[in-house]
Amino acid sequence: DHIKDAVREESGITDISYHTWIEPLSFYEYNGGVVFILIPSDNSIAHNYITTHYQNFFKVAISELIGEAVDVSFVLQKDVNINNEKTSTPSAEKESVSESQSYENSNLNPKYRFDTFVVGSNNKFAHSASLAVAESPGESYNPLFLYGGPGLGKTHLMHSIGHFIMEHNSSAKVLYVTSEAFTNEVIESIRSGKQESMSKLREKYRTVDVLMVDDVQFIIGKESTQEEFFHTFNELHQAGKQIILSSDRPPKEMETLEERFRSRFEMGLIADIQAPDYETRMAILRKNAENFGNHIDDEILEYIATNIKSNIRELEGAFNKIIAYSRLNNVEINIDNVKEALRDIISPEENKIITPQLIVNTVCEQYGIRIDDVVSRKRNSEIVLPRQIIMYLCREMTDISLEEIGRILGKKDHTTVMSGISRIKGKLSTDEDLVKNVDIIKKKLGPTS
Ligand code: ADP
Ligand code: MG
Repeated sequence: DHIKDAVREESGITDISYHTWIEPLSFYEYNGGVVFILIPSDNSIAHNYITTHYQNFFKVAISELIGEAVDVSFVLQKDVNINNEKTSTPSAEKESVSESQSYENSNLNPKYRFDTFVVGSNNKFAHSASLAVAESPGESYNPLFLYGGPGLGKTHLMHSIGHFIMEHNSSAKVLYVTSEAFTNEVIESIRSGKQESMSKLREKYRTVDVLMVDDVQFIIGKESTQEEFFHTFNELHQAGKQIILSSDRPPKEMETLEERFRSRFEMGLIADIQAPDYETRMAILRKNAENFGNHIDDEILEYIATNIKSNIRELEGAFNKIIAYSRLNNVEINIDNVKEALRDIISPEENKIITPQLIVNTVCEQYGIRIDDVVSRKRNSEIVLPRQIIMYLCREMTDISLEEIGRILGKKDHTTVMSGISRIKGKLSTDEDLVKNVDIIKKKLGPTS
């Protein structure tokens, strides 16, 4: 009670917070210089909250009371139960408690592990690189730089590495952090103006064995944050500690990246993750279906895999949505219900077949010209360019022949079509406006495989 009072006083906690968080706590154990305090619930949010907000206050209060510097750690009821079931020897208890403690501090999501990661041709390389790093951290590739578009599994792989390392070496200090959290911590410690706060930050990041920084592109360009990160990187790297970074693109495509970062990011191994192919999408959906437990027809999984192509997060989102839809509406999961459930994700339009006529219409609309003109013999430049784009897109997006393309556009001869297509191909490597326009037209036409 004396300690709780001290914490209450020092932290300036509100009454309601005090009654919620602090009052229910009780002493659990003192072992190896660590005071373990019991949180009488199984709520890991409470654990996180109490640890981040009050651990230090407890540390100070207890150290003062007993006249000796101690560490403080919080344990949840369920951790205690597990320990008691396993064994009752105090040393084993302690070990197990501090193990779960290090998990908490690592910020790892228990779901993201190697054995829940589906390997496909799109991520095979990144997967083996990650496994290699997990097997010998600091020794094989340092840093490991993973890049790829959103929702393709970068974070999942990073966490998998973390779990793997901690499972094989329980004393390894693994720390995962998002760039956003890192930035906030740096800003906060600068704002506080306290040297002590800065040293604590450095202590936290520069004493780990494995540091993972997710979406590192968000740190770049933020002056003080990138400076802090730079020194952290150097210190860890020099000490042979493993660094794992992720980004939405490779270092050489990060436009504002300074040379000193680029050279460091490229020092180890760079591995990309591409969009998943159809087989991988199906495999991921099958895994989801397996976890769900009930049988789901392949027809349904195929429908999702055919229509959602670029992002695994969306793929899983669609899957979860059909489950929720069937539960909420109390209907079975069949293809009609699935189409209805996913109406706002997969618009029926996206299934449309791309025809030459559709291309003609869309291109004319984009350039604000008349269809009559584009299929006429007119040769003014406002007409010629869109006409060539039509040739190019018909060739790319449909399987009709050059002759047919010529016929649609009123050309007798397919060599005109050929030269039109190569004009556009040439211009696409230099003309940014054209690239943009063709992109927009393609989007309007809908997704293609
Ligand atoms: P990113 O960090 O690249 O944006 P995430 O790692 O957050 O992507 O992945 C998004 C979601 O897709 C997560 O739920 C993740 O578990 C899942 N996911 C991604 N790739 C795979 C994969 N190969 N196998 C299984 N699940 C995956
Ligand atoms: Mg991510």
